[in-house]
Amino acid sequence: MIQAGVGFHRKTKIFITHMHGDHILGLPGLLQTMSLLDREKKLEIYGPQGIKAFVEAISQTVRFTLTFPVQVSEIEADLVCEEKEYEVYATPSNHMTPGLAYALTEKPRPGRFHPEKAKALGVPEGPLWSKLQGGSSVKLPDGRIVKPEMVLGSPRPGRKIVYTGDTRPSENLVKLAENADLLIHEATFDDEMMERASEDGHSTPSQAAETAKEAGAKRLVLTHISARYKDASLLLDQARKIFSNTELAEDFLKIDLPFPEA
Ligand SMILES: [Zn+2]
Ligand SMILES: [Zn+2]
Repeated sequence: MIQAGVGFHRKTKIFITHMHGDHILGLPGLLQTMSLLDREKKLEIYGPQGIKAFVEAISQTVRFTLTFPVQVSEIEADLVCEEKEYEVYATPSNHMTPGLAYALTEKPRPGRFHPEKAKALGVPEGPLWSKLQGGSSVKLPDGRIVKPEMVLGSPRPGRKIVYTGDTRPSENLVKLAENADLLIHEATFDDEMMERASEDGHSTPSQAAETAKEAGAKRLVLTHISARYKDASLLLDQARKIFSNTELAEDFLKIDLPFPEA
């Protein structure tokens, strides 16, 4: 996070997929680092059953003082978090231990502002324009009311990002990833090891690609690739045969995700 310049003082929510070490053991270090940097804002942690006990155990046994409140929510499926601009949904994954996959869904944004329409209606440029852009009606000096829909285009859809965590393929995931702008899917083993993947509660590149295709996702990023693959291009090729718009995740990968067209 330091190298990525993400910042430790911002409003932050952490969503844990499941209680395996490779997915939760970073938390103690993160909490301590945030405290050393004197974070003050509340930190929200969401996760499956067990996450509360884990965070409590950290704060009771590791000798450091938290400088900020931590709010832990043990959640089940469906809408788990709602903010002004976005919502987070969860669905059960299909792994060795109870887990959750998450979808971050932005709410629709107000339509495009048409200055020529505002001018034609006699709305003076300035604060009244900003109010209309923000979706509120305004009253003109001559008493007429102008409503936002008179000067705005239709609402524009937000973006949707889905993160699977560790999982075998499942119908739940296809539903969660419906029309996602970005699907970040695990692909632990390559297609030749499909049986092993299934035994261990994981997916292969073809399975991830099938989910992306069935869901109508726009882009697929493969992650959680087993350390046995020094070169993961084999896995990338296997996925691209089914879903061409696939990339491999790597540390510090940045993806520019444009707003979908209305
Ligand atoms: Zn796992
Ligand atoms: Zn894992």
